Amino acid sequence: MSQKLAKPVLRFAPSPNGRLHLGHAYSALYTWNAASLLGGTALLRIEDIDAERSKPEFVAAIFDDLHWLGLDWPEPVMAQSERMDIYADAGNQLRDQGLLYPCFCSRADLAAHAIGLDPEGAPLYAGTCRHMDRGEQIERLERGDAVQFRIDVSGAMARIGMLTFSVVGPSISDRPQIRHARPERWGDVVLQRKGMPTSYHLSVVVDDAAQGVSHVTRGRDMEAGTDMHVLLQMLLGLPSPIYNFHKLILDDNGKKLAKSRHSESLGDLRAKGWTPEDVRRAVGL
Ligand code: GLU
Repeated sequence: MSQKLAKPVLRFAPSPNGRLHLGHAYSALYTWNAASLLGGTALLRIEDIDAERSKPEFVAAIFDDLHWLGLDWPEPVMAQSERMDIYADAGNQLRDQGLLYPCFCSRADLAAHAIGLDPEGAPLYAGTCRHMDRGEQIERLERGDAVQFRIDVSGAMARIGMLTFSVVGPSISDRPQIRHARPERWGDVVLQRKGMPTSYHLSVVVDDAAQGVSHVTRGRDMEAGTDMHVLLQMLLGLPSPIYNFHKLILDDNGKKLAKSRHSESLGDLRAKGWTPEDVRRAVGL
């Protein structure tokens, strides 16, 4: 009996905290091209867990800019802000495994005790609260102290041993290669905090699985972060997609385009008379 192979599913998952720029346009066009090369589907997902920075007008602009680029996706579009209960459940699974612990360190504590830098150059958490005794944890939680919940990465890795994942590239249709994941280089990252049952790492992993994403295409700037995703997939019993890391679009100073650096948005370019073809040409797709 012949087995029916599932169709590849890819996704573009922007955060609506500003207008899209040429870097996003490249990533979106790249993802739709990859989906078509694989004979699969590209989904749009709105990563709006940050309630302060996410704005409905940016969600509307994402839809509008992507349609303008000629891209289409199945409806309904998943929005992470509507899935907090599901992320809370995933956090509880890790808590039940004894792998999520409360941390009461302030920003100053973190900097003072850092044991190096993570792959993004941020202070690497020393694991100070990892061994706090249960009584003190309960007392401080009951007192309402500011708290974040961190994953015990070394504890998790001690149980797992070796962690690997599949990477393809440069082309999405290349043969997958096995790569070792080293989530330890991120230290015990924060997965939940008071009033916020998730973080980028946790929701991305839960949602890629929920949407049946088979191939994750993302910029090289997110290559190292993938190690943490692979660890969470393993712990939550979720399938691990195949990963493909694409180039970044740089500005004239060789820096990655970013909303925080006020890179020109697609809206600005459209107002200047750019066409979708101009965008494709500018990013080389
Ligand atoms: N939401 C993330 C961003 O806008 C990307 C999601 C991912 O590829 O994991 O940077």
